Amino acid sequence: MSVTDHELTEAWRQVLTLSNVRSGETVTVLTGADTHPQTLRTAVNALTELGASVTRVELPSVNGEKSLSRDALAYLGTTPLTGNAAAIAALKASDLVVDLMTLLFSPEQHDILKTGTKILLAVEPPEVLCRLVPTARDRERVTKAAELIKAADEMHITSAAGTNLRCSLGEFPAISEYGFVDEPGRWDHWPSGFVLTWPNERRSNGIVVLDRGDILLPLKDYVQEPIELTVTDGYVTKIEGGVQAHILKSYMRSYDDPEAYAVSHIGWGLQPRAQWAMLAHYNKESTIGMDARAFEGNFLWSMGPNNEAGGDRTTACHIDIPMRNCNVYLDGSPVVLAGVVQDYAKNVGVAQ
Ligand code: FE
Repeated sequence: MSVTDHELTEAWRQVLTLSNVRSGETVTVLTGADTHPQTLRTAVNALTELGASVTRVELPSVNGEKSLSRDALAYLGTTPLTGNAAAIAALKASDLVVDLMTLLFSPEQHDILKTGTKILLAVEPPEVLCRLVPTARDRERVTKAAELIKAADEMHITSAAGTNLRCSLGEFPAISEYGFVDEPGRWDHWPSGFVLTWPNERRSNGIVVLDRGDILLPLKDYVQEPIELTVTDGYVTKIEGGVQAHILKSYMRSYDDPEAYAVSHIGWGLQPRAQWAMLAHYNKESTIGMDARAFEGNFLWSMGPNNEAGGDRTTACHIDIPMRNCNVYLDGSPVVLAGVVQDYAKNVGVAQ
């Protein structure tokens, strides 16, 4: 069902207020060929009501001819900012960039954030944005989880399906994604609600067994029969299973890049309003699957780059894999058990 302009404007008002947007601030709204008109219309309405000075910058699409998919996260090559000095100058001159286009991570974006400009990505369908409006409580919960990662030397993931993966930590920061940008130079994505980091280079080892119901992104498929991935010294060296394993292998092979198989970010979902079942209802081209990445208690891991975290690996291929029913331990202490986040038990003494 659709949401009204009023509902989506109210949702924007909450996100922008949490992002400390003030009267007189300069906000640039980035749009592209796939920007949802209602999201754009209501964002501009809410920004105007808050007294912001709004500019719209429309950038052309790139890499469409190289990608096997229309998903904006399916090909991480150059971005519309590459070599575009006028656009870069406009974004650097803004207090906030509202990204309705999907400006992927790039050196240019890093430079823009360094000037103190905040960037908030919002490209999910309007009704998903309304259902997953972030709150201050989301920030608190995700930030606490990030503190746990910061203090840990190892993440160990197991499951009844057979997963047993160990990742050394410490080379890369813990990242909190809670859905709004309340600090200068912050990037975030509405909707989200999860915590992540990257394993130390070449220091992930073990087996990951994807069970029925785990999710492959950007393919947006629920796993129908187990897929076993062998991780050796930071790289997936073997992918075994049925037809879906062959599809995954064929898709990754199409990038012709050995770095595609590196273990990328690892973390877990903390958003109770995000739904595992959501992808079963949506056309694949209408969403990028943030419910799947954020639903509470999923172990989200990925293959691909680590330059977003300050590493030097770039690759156009990026696979996100949210898994259910995993146990996640930090230095031996459980943070997720059988897909249930353990923070409530720790914080308020209520076992879940
Ligand atoms: Fe990812």
